[in-house]
Amino acid sequence: MKRRKFVGAIGALGAGATVAGLTGCGSKPTDCATAGAEGFSGKKIKWTMVTTWPKNFAGLGEGAEYLAQLINEMSGGRMQVKVYGSGELVPALQVFESVASGAAQMGHGASYYWKGKLSMAPFFAAVPFGLNAQEMNGWLLHGGGIELWRELYERFNLIPEPAGNTGVQMAGWFNKEINSLADIKGLKMRIPGLGGEVWKRAGGIPVLMPGSEVFTSLETGAIDAAEWVGPYNDLAFGLFKAAKFYYYPGWHEPGTTLEALINKKAYEALPEDLQQIVTQACRTANADMLADFTAKNNDALNTLVTKHKVDLRKLPDDVLQELATISENMLQEQVKTDLDQRILDSFKSFRDQAREWHKVSEQSYYSARS
Ligand code: CA
Repeated sequence: MKRRKFVGAIGALGAGATVAGLTGCGSKPTDCATAGAEGFSGKKIKWTMVTTWPKNFAGLGEGAEYLAQLINEMSGGRMQVKVYGSGELVPALQVFESVASGAAQMGHGASYYWKGKLSMAPFFAAVPFGLNAQEMNGWLLHGGGIELWRELYERFNLIPEPAGNTGVQMAGWFNKEINSLADIKGLKMRIPGLGGEVWKRAGGIPVLMPGSEVFTSLETGAIDAAEWVGPYNDLAFGLFKAAKFYYYPGWHEPGTTLEALINKKAYEALPEDLQQIVTQACRTANADMLADFTAKNNDALNTLVTKHKVDLRKLPDDVLQELATISENMLQEQVKTDLDQRILDSFKSFRDQAREWHKVSEQSYYSARS
């Protein structure tokens, strides 16, 4: 993906910040001495961002790079965030611990990877038959969601921010046809988070593995199916070479929010304007990723179907219906604490009102347009 250079929009802030930040430095930001979070002293603040994605991976890894680029450029060089792909500093699934411990100041991933630690964490990424991208943003940013997310991560010394969204994903790549719920029995599928919980209750065998292992596992038959993201990512990953059927819709990930993790101490050590820059860069990256996927998915889908002869299929309605019922019953089982219950209540109440509003808005419009 070609990233535009970040200029203009915050020109005044950027210029002011540069002057303040470079006191005592040479003419270029790189002239500054290297040091930790010393804010206005004029030393460059160097942050490490660890990610759950392969370095520069289409859409997701690029989203992390873009976020770092925004912070670096918006801060006028006062901050320098360096991005590491999964496995470069820490394995994908250790990003949470790495940022919590302060070894890295930032992370980029998805909260459903931390389900083993926090059963409610997936609510801030994707819930099967839950909120789509537009609704996730509504809940998180204006519906009380982000406050609950922060509360959930507080004891880990972490501040979460939404920092990307894939939109509705695909159900995934299968080497077996799915014609009824019985076809899911014993099917080993890479499917993380709450989708994995539903898969298990439907008789399948969910497997949690980072993206870097998906292709080989599917190709060698170690797993029978795998969901990854959507056409743009899946084409880049070459998953069409490892499986025959490409099913939709992504019932398990209807609008996955990617997360930025920020070490609380590192954040609090920043001067206020840099704190704002970090936060607002996350918000910008959040919106930008959805726009990127929206612009690219259909072309990628066409390439998969016409060039690579992928067998595109819709999951049968009765299978979707069954998965939805299983999902609804499973949500309450994730609740272990009072906070968990508040998260579930907030989520459900937002979903109910979004469903009603979107029946008369988005849904009616899509029907009318088609
Ligand atoms: Ca996925």
